Amino acid sequence: MNIRFCLACEKELKGRSDKKFCDTQCRSIYHNTNRPTHELSIRRINSKLRRNRSLLAHFCPSGKSIVEKEVIAKLGYRFELFTHIFPFNSGTYFFCYEYGYLPINEKGTEKMLIVHKQKYMEKLSFYPWDFKIIKHDSK
Ligand SMILES: [Zn+2]
Repeated sequence: MNIRFCLACEKELKGRSDKKFCDTQCRSIYHNTNRPTHELSIRRINSKLRRNRSLLAHFCPSGKSIVEKEVIAKLGYRFELFTHIFPFNSGTYFFCYEYGYLPINEKGTEKMLIVHKQKYMEKLSFYPWDFKIIKHDSK
């Protein structure tokens, strides 16, 4: 499997295998280092979030799919970075933009149930002061 990402924005690259950037704009962003350091760290995190999103989108072409965590981890998925969460009865979904996943465990293998954002999720509200992390027994 050979998935490549733009060095500037971390979108998945399609086309020629020697491509490093989406376009000339990404190339100039990458080479423009005269930026305040906080901008650089924002950009670094945004890039990683975008890579996460690219990976979720790649493995979830039709709305819903299950992928082994290790497969995505090897491709550089950063599990500590996400844009928002949805706590459901079945567990907490971690989203990167419009793609998210539910961490699941199938016969001892950690997997991700990847979903594309559904309409009903827009109606769910998340209230941090009433958010409970439910610990599951590991068996
Ligand atoms: Zn790019």
